[in-house]
Amino acid sequence: MLKGIPASPGIAIGKAFTHNQGDVWFNWRHLSEAEVEPEVDRFLEALQEVGVDVERVRRQVEARLGKEHAQIFDAHLLMLRDPMLADATVSMIRKDRTNAEYAFYQTLREVKHQFDAIEDEYYRARVSDLLDVESRVLAKLCGEDRASLANLDMEAVVVAHTLTPSDTAHMSRDRVLGFVTEAGGSTSHVAIIARGLGIPAVVGVETATTRIEPGDLVVVDGTRGVVHINPDAEALAQYRAEAERLKQLERTLPTLTEFLAETTDGVRVELAANVDLPEEVEMVLRYGAEGIGLYRTEFLYLTRPALPTEEEQAEAYRWIAERVAPQPVVIRTLDLGGDKLSHVFHAQPEMNPFLGWRAIRVCLAHRDIFRTQLRAILRASACGNVRIMFPMISGLEEVVEAKQVLEEARSELRAQGIPFDEECQVGVMIEVPSAAMVADQIAEEVQFFSIGTNDLVQYAVAVDRSNERVAYLFDALHPGVLRLIKGTIEAGHHRGIPVGMCGEMCGEPLSAILLLGLGLNSFSMSPSAIPEIKRMIRSISLSDARSIASEAMSCKTPAQVRAYLQRALQGILQDAEADEAGERGPHAG
Ligand code: PEP
Ligand code: MG
Repeated sequence: MLKGIPASPGIAIGKAFTHNQGDVWFNWRHLSEAEVEPEVDRFLEALQEVGVDVERVRRQVEARLGKEHAQIFDAHLLMLRDPMLADATVSMIRKDRTNAEYAFYQTLREVKHQFDAIEDEYYRARVSDLLDVESRVLAKLCGEDRASLANLDMEAVVVAHTLTPSDTAHMSRDRVLGFVTEAGGSTSHVAIIARGLGIPAVVGVETATTRIEPGDLVVVDGTRGVVHINPDAEALAQYRAEAERLKQLERTLPTLTEFLAETTDGVRVELAANVDLPEEVEMVLRYGAEGIGLYRTEFLYLTRPALPTEEEQAEAYRWIAERVAPQPVVIRTLDLGGDKLSHVFHAQPEMNPFLGWRAIRVCLAHRDIFRTQLRAILRASACGNVRIMFPMISGLEEVVEAKQVLEEARSELRAQGIPFDEECQVGVMIEVPSAAMVADQIAEEVQFFSIGTNDLVQYAVAVDRSNERVAYLFDALHPGVLRLIKGTIEAGHHRGIPVGMCGEMCGEPLSAILLLGLGLNSFSMSPSAIPEIKRMIRSISLSDARSIASEAMSCKTPAQVRAYLQRALQGILQDAEADEAGERGPHAG
């Protein structure tokens, strides 16, 4: 049983597909009797071929850099030709009838353990040679059919140290049952994607890739943040029953779609959904979202070898705008950088990527690319209710500059006679503390705000959102964060513009009561979170939510805020149940 951070609720049960050394993914496979000897031959041939490759590299290095540098490859060749290594792998293929990748991986693990245990620098240093040999042989064995998340050939739970946005952008989603990663917090990329697709996930599981073997049966309990490896029959039956119960519950939740998100004293708020991948739009419609409050456009840039053209982008944006019309879709301009680095910008690795060249900073440095995206969004605005949103704004100048580029795009389209919505609204994300502090100035320039707490918390509390070691500090209920949120909402309202939120915070019932009470106008979240938030909003009056918010704002620590909100939420739900029992029925919209 491994503990981690709950990242996406639900229970997934399946075989593990693990990430291995050198970016080679492979599956465990059981062989039939007839497959065993051909598998042994395949393995011995791969060893031989890797030996030839290494010899060649050795000769090239010797010619270019001299004998001394080439010696490193002698160690690799010795290992490749070590009969013990080959024999141990072959006998495992024969005895356990497993595929060569798995047998070789297991054999090397054993050797690595032995090397690690020897108190001798020389042997310890050989571990990196072993890793090198391992990834070469595995890559050769996997060859052209190298497994990847893009061509998973069975349903599986993906277990990895970390998953990059391009891993998830390419994966075959219908085969992924669950995610377990060693790195990451609840707002890291994989957590957001998992929630968006409704796939259970646990992140920050420190020893996942060493404790879970390929092919192990694992249960991912994304609600409790627990991963159970090879559970016994009784535990497995319990998990299966629980998974079935959750599925039943899920089927009943969307029935709330016919009701509006309205408080008991008749105040309407907007409940919208966040979308990272076009596939999620189906969930958005099913869960009754009132449009898309955040459409992350990064996937378009991460799934292609080169930049997407204006036409490709316009087509993608038009598709989504038409699917949700007449409801709005807020298209956020490119937010690459941070944990989403892209090959297309050839960005240099940075010491602090989240504080570095990211989002609007990249766009303002590449105005041609930015203008192309803005033209594409504007073109889509002719076919639906499209809004434009700029991410990572830190102050007024960036808004003014971004609007200048937008104006250039508009003038070009006008001159070319290409239709677009002249009234298309423009807003910004408030996710950098400095922007929250000057929200009154920024409000003069835009038509809406959307608070991005995933980053606002990261920057305000100085806690890397993808670092599991400091995840305990990542808390949107920190009084300092709450003051920034309150100030932003007040600044927006003072200027007469609506203020929404698209950070993960607003999809949690506890925080949602508080945000409602602070006057937030729209909530955008993972589609699957909508029914529960809607139920909560329909159970409370705005005036009660206001008093709760005011009391919560006087608490001194995140723990006090949480404890207070928990008591308040319990009270609300009990009252709502009593009302229902009194057969007053749901408050119709
Ligand atoms: C946020 O920062 O809260 C947000 C919604 O944007 P992202 O998670 O894409 O950074
Ligand atoms: Mg953000």
